[in-house]
Amino acid sequence: MLLLKNLQISFNDEQVLKGINLTVNKGDVVTLIGPSGTGKTTLLRCINYLEKPDDGEITLGDVHLDYKSIRKKDILKIRRKTAMVFQQYNLFKHKTVIENVMEAQMVVQKKSKKAAYEKSMEELEKVGLLDKINAYPSQLSGGQQQRVSIARALAVEPEVILFDEPTSALDPELVGEVLKVIEAVAKSGITIVLVTHEMSFAQNISTKVVFMDKGKIVEEGTPTEIFNQSSNERTRGFLNQFY
Ligand code: ATP
Repeated sequence: MLLLKNLQISFNDEQVLKGINLTVNKGDVVTLIGPSGTGKTTLLRCINYLEKPDDGEITLGDVHLDYKSIRKKDILKIRRKTAMVFQQYNLFKHKTVIENVMEAQMVVQKKSKKAAYEKSMEELEKVGLLDKINAYPSQLSGGQQQRVSIARALAVEPEVILFDEPTSALDPELVGEVLKVIEAVAKSGITIVLVTHEMSFAQNISTKVVFMDKGKIVEEGTPTEIFNQSSNERTRGFLNQFY
């Protein structure tokens, strides 16, 4: 279970997140939607402390932290429980596909090379890339690179996977293959928090949809409650652009 309480962050005196309270239960697929610049990516990055919140608390499994008194070893505890899939894949360019997937398992989790290799092969099979294990990122399409980064995230067996607009850097014809993989990950029961602009995808895979605007959660609910039944003016105004 992931709990955020009163999470706040400012950049250059501008408050970007204004007290976020969020509950993500085990196995939930929580999708953050909302206008550009509203703080969705920042919220995701705060969860694994890639951004440093000014105030608030986080509970992730057995770890509970107050951002006002956070220590370095607390950050590592949180990072070990999360994995992030970035918009730009963020693969090591000079490592092969299999080396990319093995890296965190060996460096962070201290697994043996053999155990890391076996786990990587298992995850690369799930994303359909067993024929590319010795390729370098530059030899792959964007969709294939993103599938490697999903395999890498799965390989460390995190309590929650954070997806930051995972398809927005892709050519349109490559979006489908990545969404299909994410859908399979979601169905496998792994807890997910996802930022996306793919509204029909959000509608299909989410257990909970969170609509954010101007640094606040305006409304949250099931996909039906948000996409079909919302009477909130801001939610409706946002969604009307897509339909
Ligand atoms: P989009 O849908 O366009 O990706 P978003 O809702 O994810 O938008 P964020 O990327 O979280 O929004 O950005 C929220 C605001 O915070 C923006 O005004 C952005 O410029 C600002 N911001 C985000 N990160 C930083 C940073 N590291 N330093 C300064 N400002 C930042």
